[in-house]
Amino acid sequence: MKGKGVKKLLEESVLDIHKLTSEPKIAYFSMEIGFDERIHTYSGGLGILAGDTIKSSSDLKLPMVAVTLISKKGYFKQELDERGRQIELPDEWNPADHMTLLPEKITVRTEGREVYVQSWIYSIDSLTGGSIPVLFLDTDLPDNEAGDRGITHSLYGGDERYRLKQEIVLGIGGERMLRALGFKIKKYHMNEGHASLLTLSLLLRFKRDIEEVWDEKEVWDLESVKDLCVFTTHTPVEAGHDKFSYGMVREVLGEFIPFDLLKELGGSDKMNMTLLAMNLSRYINGVAKKHGAVSKGLFPGYEIHAITNGIHSYTWTCESFARLYDKYLPGWANEPEVFVRVGRIPDEELWAAHMEAKRRLIDYIRDVKGSCMGYDTLTIGFARRATAYKRATLLFRDIERLKRIGKGRLQLIYAGKAHPRDMEGKKNIEEIFKAIEALKGDIEVVYLPNYDIGLAMKMVSGVDVWLNTPMRPREASGTSGMKAAHNGVLNLSVLDGWWIEGHIEDYTGWSIGPGPTETTLAESSDETDTEDLYHKLEHKVIRTYYDDRERWIRMMQNAIGKNAYYFNSHRMIRRYVTEAYIR
Ligand SMILES: *Cc1c(COP(=O)(O)O)cnc(C)c1O
Repeated sequence: MKGKGVKKLLEESVLDIHKLTSEPKIAYFSMEIGFDERIHTYSGGLGILAGDTIKSSSDLKLPMVAVTLISKKGYFKQELDERGRQIELPDEWNPADHMTLLPEKITVRTEGREVYVQSWIYSIDSLTGGSIPVLFLDTDLPDNEAGDRGITHSLYGGDERYRLKQEIVLGIGGERMLRALGFKIKKYHMNEGHASLLTLSLLLRFKRDIEEVWDEKEVWDLESVKDLCVFTTHTPVEAGHDKFSYGMVREVLGEFIPFDLLKELGGSDKMNMTLLAMNLSRYINGVAKKHGAVSKGLFPGYEIHAITNGIHSYTWTCESFARLYDKYLPGWANEPEVFVRVGRIPDEELWAAHMEAKRRLIDYIRDVKGSCMGYDTLTIGFARRATAYKRATLLFRDIERLKRIGKGRLQLIYAGKAHPRDMEGKKNIEEIFKAIEALKGDIEVVYLPNYDIGLAMKMVSGVDVWLNTPMRPREASGTSGMKAAHNGVLNLSVLDGWWIEGHIEDYTGWSIGPGPTETTLAESSDETDTEDLYHKLEHKVIRTYYDDRERWIRMMQNAIGKNAYYFNSHRMIRRYVTEAYIR
């Protein structure tokens, strides 16, 4: 992958919108897309997955166009004070530095006003010659009144009404913009329910022109819309799905289609964006096998498939490992299947590549935090959105026991942002800061601020073990553990999401707590899980690391040969093509 902006292409007069629109494409809609640390249009996993999906599609030269919002004020930049209290700063970026503004404008209606929408175009180009245009929708136009100019400013900012307006711009505005630019679309893929309103825009387009109507419903051609739509759900809990009261929908969206039809499609009490998308998509899937099953339980009666997530191998492989793979597994970046031959890499070179990445992370921590961590000390990393279900503080439930197990033998690196309104997530960060104090002198722990693509890359490659402790079954998939595996970093994780499929005990990594059983939302037991976590740490992880380096390196090979081999976005997108796009 190389990120060459269309700005440059336009200047070189290579960009030709007619060329872009000549071939029918898959339209990939996502509220957030994360593909470059300088472009702050993502908050976490969902956005990075979208970016990785597009990068693999570009490598494989798939006919695709992506649609998202410009979010020029970003999500937020995180600072932490000495007690771990989160400070949220604006994280603005300038679209004109990276992409090209297109002259076409369309309008959508919100609160009875016309809102003009323009778009910026960026091309995600691959070294293979593939390239995928990404449209960033933007309402910051002088034609709009002040409030409306900010609709596309802040990712996941504002209240419910703001969110609904954003979803109108994304779904309805996005569909209209593609048409205005002349794109021919053969499938619309909604990455999560934020884009569901595009189904209504399509319904209007497929409205039958019948002269004598016996039944009002006959004019709405639901089947044609379904044939065009693919929907991926990412949320395994009922409360996580976007819902809007019909009172607000009436005020903000108006009677876009008749309300009785909308209620049939989106649910009788509230407009549920997941239901809306499911009722108008021929193909629906969850993002791991377990998540597919859990989603079926949440939405009985729907056929829900599963395509397990993957990550873009080239993006998430650090420099030292990329060099190693180039030497022993040429072609790996566009054909991750060659990881199956990982056994060709000599043990010493695999370890040396790992130590290079580890030194880089530890040097970085010395530079930004002044903390001295040891190159040879077993290092555990934990970085993810700070929110209750991720249980970031599980490891600290029994500080004295942790000291006994880890004194002088363990060091820990944490990171993660809490959503500005997630008070519990913020409290979690403060609790980790307390643990840092309590462990001082025994176990070195740091919390690195502002987790983003750049920091994720350093962490998933520079630690020895990647820890994940979500409450089952709330981790729909999880992807950072796949990034770790690409860099020979071993996973120690609760059996949920992708790890159920990737885990072989003592072989690709280690599990925490009981195996996957029911698909219901049985609460995890903190007690049982902590007990198992301490036990595994003491008797397996620490022992193997210090006493059986050969076995450790064998496990690193297995992480690459079994996990990276499979959990990559090349495999994932090929499955979307054969199971969802061309059917
Ligand atoms: C990969 C990634 C995530 C998602 O990781 P999970 O394992 O799903 O929590 C979130 N944020 C950033 C910056 C990432 O790179």
